[in-house]
Amino acid sequence: MYDIIVVGAGPAGMTAAIYARRAARSVLVLEAVNYGGQILNTPDIENYPVEAHISGYDFSTKVYEQAKDLGAEFVFEKVVEIRSEEDKKTVITPKNTYTAKAVILATGSENRKLGLDDEDRLVGRGVSYCATCDGNFYRNKVVAVVGGGNTALEDALYLSDLAKQVYLIHRRDSFRGEETNAARLKEKENVEIIYNANVTKLISEKRLKAIEVTDKLNGNVRTIELNGLFIAVGRIPENRNFADLIKLDDAGYVIAGEDCHTNIDGIFVAGDNRTKMLRQLVTATGDGAVAATEAVKYINNK
Ligand code: NAP
Repeated sequence: MYDIIVVGAGPAGMTAAIYARRAARSVLVLEAVNYGGQILNTPDIENYPVEAHISGYDFSTKVYEQAKDLGAEFVFEKVVEIRSEEDKKTVITPKNTYTAKAVILATGSENRKLGLDDEDRLVGRGVSYCATCDGNFYRNKVVAVVGGGNTALEDALYLSDLAKQVYLIHRRDSFRGEETNAARLKEKENVEIIYNANVTKLISEKRLKAIEVTDKLNGNVRTIELNGLFIAVGRIPENRNFADLIKLDDAGYVIAGEDCHTNIDGIFVAGDNRTKMLRQLVTATGDGAVAATEAVKYINNK
């Protein structure tokens, strides 16, 4: 039995592993895909203390190596169920069953889709949810970004240095993301911002060829020919597999305060998948520290 199982190897989960190892607890980190989580999609982190610029990939790799060097074990399997008993938590993947005294849920979130016909089929054929991963395929081509949060603004900025033309399509007339990024975008000559509009149709043969954009104010439909569409309309917390056990709010976030406790004794939550005011790298790592400290306290009190 491990002392602590951390579910998810994003910044929150890996920070939790670091703190738990420094408290001399045995730690298993279970991750479905790859270490790093959402921050892997950020080309340039400028708002995390110490380094003025660092890529999400470099950041994640450093944290991963730090956690491994401290003795955290990493296994790449998706957790499909968690069971809770008084003195034991059972964590189940399709391949194995693991047990621990405490569990930290740091599962983050997944891409929200637009829900358009053919959206799934066109992923990798012109539709992408990750500008850093796929932007390079669109050098000197025409792309559009949908969304008005920090991800959309940063994606549009990143793509404007690669692509010939970037359209940024947002459903309102003001951005949710930081003003600094919006101001930078407005200065870019190859960026056109289309406000108050939704992408309402994907036009394709084998690949995406064009999109229809509908103006919300007057209903006018504009067809934009392009090579790539980057969808950055937010994320959905990855808590569905625990919904029978853990209390979630209406949007699917684990209900928890700054102490990172869930409704179940011995199960804690850290990072973007919990209810919180500000979802940032710095608050995710902060959660990791709190959740691990609370988990260690819980084990010590048993
Ligand atoms: P977000 O802040 O939730 O923004 C999502 C955007 O997509 C919003 O502008 C929203 O419009 C729009 N949207 C949602 N559903 C839509 C739909 N069906 N059709 C069209 N538009 C839709 O998501 P995010 O940009 O991915 O950011 C997630 C969190 O990570 C945020 O807290 C963000 O600040 C943070 N983040 C931080 C950094 C950084 O610090 N460097 C970088 C990236 C992300 P409305 O505005 O009208 O709701």
